[in-house]
Amino acid sequence: VELDGGSLEALSLFTPGPVDLSFAARRALGRPMIHHRSEPFEMVMKNLGASLKAAFMTTDSVVTLASSGTGAMEAAVVNLFGPGDRVLVPVSGKFSHRWFDICRAFEIDTCVMELAPGDAPEPDDLIALIEREGDIDGVLLTHCETSTGSLLDLEAIGRALTDVETRLGNRILTCVDCITTLCIDEFRKDEWAIDCAIGASQKGLLCPPGLGFISLGGEALKRLRSSAVPRYYFDLRRYLDDLSQAPFTPAVSLVRAAAESLDIILGLGLERVWRANRSGAAALRLLCETAGFEPVARRQAGAVVAFWVGDVDADAMADILAQEHGIVVAHGQGELRGKLLRASAIGKSHREILRFAEAFEATMNKVGLPFVLKDIRCELERIMEDSAIWE
Ligand SMILES: *Cc1c(COP(=O)(O)O)cnc(C)c1O
Repeated sequence: VELDGGSLEALSLFTPGPVDLSFAARRALGRPMIHHRSEPFEMVMKNLGASLKAAFMTTDSVVTLASSGTGAMEAAVVNLFGPGDRVLVPVSGKFSHRWFDICRAFEIDTCVMELAPGDAPEPDDLIALIEREGDIDGVLLTHCETSTGSLLDLEAIGRALTDVETRLGNRILTCVDCITTLCIDEFRKDEWAIDCAIGASQKGLLCPPGLGFISLGGEALKRLRSSAVPRYYFDLRRYLDDLSQAPFTPAVSLVRAAAESLDIILGLGLERVWRANRSGAAALRLLCETAGFEPVARRQAGAVVAFWVGDVDADAMADILAQEHGIVVAHGQGELRGKLLRASAIGKSHREILRFAEAFEATMNKVGLPFVLKDIRCELERIMEDSAIWE
């Protein structure tokens, strides 16, 4: 496969975002433009808003921003915290580190809990740190750390944070980047007591990049009114005042794609979609384990699998997969470059996963690792059974 021109279409994205588009999204993107101050577009906005509530599992409104996921993260920080506030950020990889970078840019006092790649903060450790620090106003979490494939136990953390709030008598806002769990893995904003949740269009929604989503609970909405941080485009008050009319020209085509893709996803059923993506990830994990690789994460996510590749050059493997098989996987980021292989099966059917498995076998053999797909084929097909919903 050549990596240019028309043949680009033949590439299959096994990256943890952007992912291959849903058919519904592609169809929506080809439609003629409509004006954003019109009744038909208002209907689309309302439909998207209702679907996003279902996807986040919340009764709170969800705001759609014309930005990538990081814009929504920045919106959370500038609307909820200000100088004089102190937030806690567990850092275990590139994406959790982004919370720290944003807070630093806005001069918000940040207490960092440093973790090894693949680790996730344990509820008890978080609570101990909060009790020691005393004056924490918010905890900024990354549900799935996409750079390592590590998933944190958000249900247990939500419960522990609610307990410590009661004990200390102060309100700690729990903000979660659930960009690689939204419509991918189990995520329940309201049930898990999350005050602020953030998503993006290019992962579980099977849409192009370009939209960020943010949903605020009651306490966060109160905080939003009192933040003294300067903001304009990302001032969420503007968006919340009238949810059927974006304050600025919205990303009309992306909004339509997201609404129509979510119709399909919610039609399949969120829990079935979670199971399907988990089963695709399990299939990729079986391949990596069979190759003798070690998983990076202790608690593994459904969105992405990350494996240490030992003495093999991960970048060389990625090049073979792309150039000879038309399959794109992700690189290790920062100092993990070349050391690990990251791949994602979000929205991938049996057929696509089998194609990946065959390409993986050929690639392993080319770099000199023994790997016989035939030996695990039955197990692979059993493991990925739930991904059949994507056929
Ligand atoms: C993909 C991803 C983001 C996305 O950031 P962009 O601004 O959309 O590039 C943020 N957080 C996590 C955990 C991600 O996986």
